[in-house]
Amino acid sequence: SKVLLTGGSGFIAAHVLKVLLDRGYSVVTTVRSAAKGDQIVAAHGDAVKGRLSYVIVGDIAQEGAFDEAVRSTPPFRYVVHTASPFPTSVDDPVRDLLDPAIKGTTGILKAIKAYAPTVERVVITSSFAAMVGGGKSVGGAPPVYDESAWNPVTWDEAVADKTKSYRGSKTLAERAAWDFVANEKPAFDISTICPPLVFGPVAAEQPFAGLASLNTSNQRIRDIVQGVHVNDTIIHSPGSSLFTDVRDLALAHVRALEVPAAGGQRFFVTTGLYSCKNIVEIVRASHPELASRLPKDLQDDLPADVYGYDNSRAQQVLGIQFRPLEESIADTVTSLLKLGA
Ligand code: NDP
Repeated sequence: SKVLLTGGSGFIAAHVLKVLLDRGYSVVTTVRSAAKGDQIVAAHGDAVKGRLSYVIVGDIAQEGAFDEAVRSTPPFRYVVHTASPFPTSVDDPVRDLLDPAIKGTTGILKAIKAYAPTVERVVITSSFAAMVGGGKSVGGAPPVYDESAWNPVTWDEAVADKTKSYRGSKTLAERAAWDFVANEKPAFDISTICPPLVFGPVAAEQPFAGLASLNTSNQRIRDIVQGVHVNDTIIHSPGSSLFTDVRDLALAHVRALEVPAAGGQRFFVTTGLYSCKNIVEIVRASHPELASRLPKDLQDDLPADVYGYDNSRAQQVLGIQFRPLEESIADTVTSLLKLGA
C-alpha cells in the first residue's frame, strides 16, 4: 500500500518513515525543500528504490497547500500527518504555531476529501499538550489522564499567552480534525496519537542540521550530556513529567493505520513518568565516561502530587509494548554522542 507522510524531515516522522519502509509500504513524504527531500531519499539508499519519493509543500498553512500532494499514481491508501511546528520559542503565535497546526490539519483533510477518494485512514500526530489540564480527579487526588482528557485552552488564550500557544496549537488542531470528520463525513476515518515528551535516538536518515537545532524534546538530554547542569542541585522537567520513546511512538502511528479498530480513536501513547534526576542516574550508569559532566547530588524534581496516566488503549488496541526509560535514555545518549555531543 502507498502512504503519504507529511513532514518527513522531522524527528518523529523520520522514525515513522523507517517503520513504514521496513514494513514494505511505498511512501511519498512532504518536505519544505528539495535539499531535505534529496537527503532523505539518498539516506535510505537503493534498498527502498522505487518505494520512496518526496513532494515539496512549502507553507502548510496556505489554502490548498496539500491539493497536489494528495494526488498520486497509484493513489494513496493511507496518510500520516505529523508536520506541525514544535519550536522552543516563537515571535508570532498565530503565524508561527496556530495557523500551521490548525490550517495544516484541516487543509490536508479537505484535500483528501476532495482529491484522494481512495484514502481509507488518516493518522494525525496530536500531543499530550492537547490533554493537559483535562485529567479527571477523584476526591481531590491528582488527576489521571486517559483519552477522555481535553486541554480547555481557548484560541484567545493561545494567542495572548505565549506559554499556552504550543499547547493551544495542538489542542485546536486536533479538535478541528474531529470536527471535520463529524461535520464533513468523509470516506476516510482518522486516528489521533497523543504522545507526551518524546525521547529517543535521532534517526540516521533524518536530515540533521546540528546539535544546536536538535528537536525540542531531546534538548534536555543533550544539555545534561554536554555538562550544562554539572553544578545544579535540581533540574526541572520541561513541561511534562511523562515521556515516550520515539521508536514506540513511530510503531504506534503505523499500527494505527493497520489495525481496523484504531479508526475513530484517540490514543494516549505514553510510557510513564520520568524525572531529570532519573535521566542523570541512567546516564551515569550507561555512559560512565560522562561522569565528570553530570551533577552529583540532584534533588528529585518529580512533583509529589504528579498526575497519573492510563496507557492501556495504546497497549491493547495498538499492541505497543513500551520500552523502559533506561533503554530510551541510554540509546538517546549514544545517538547524541555520535552526533558530536
Ligand atoms: P520536529 O521539529 O523534528 O519536526 C517537525 C516537522 O514539521 C518537520 O518536518 C518540520 O519541517 C515540519 N514543520 C514544522 N512547521 C512547519 C510548517 N510551518 N510548514 C511545514 N512544515 C512544518 O518535531 P517532532 O518530530 O518532535 O514533532 C512532530 C510532531 O509531533 C508535531 O506535530 C509535534 O507537535 C508532535 N509532538 C512532538 C512531541 C515531542 O516531544 N517531540 C510530543 C508531542 C507531539 P522542517 O524540517 O522543514 O522544519
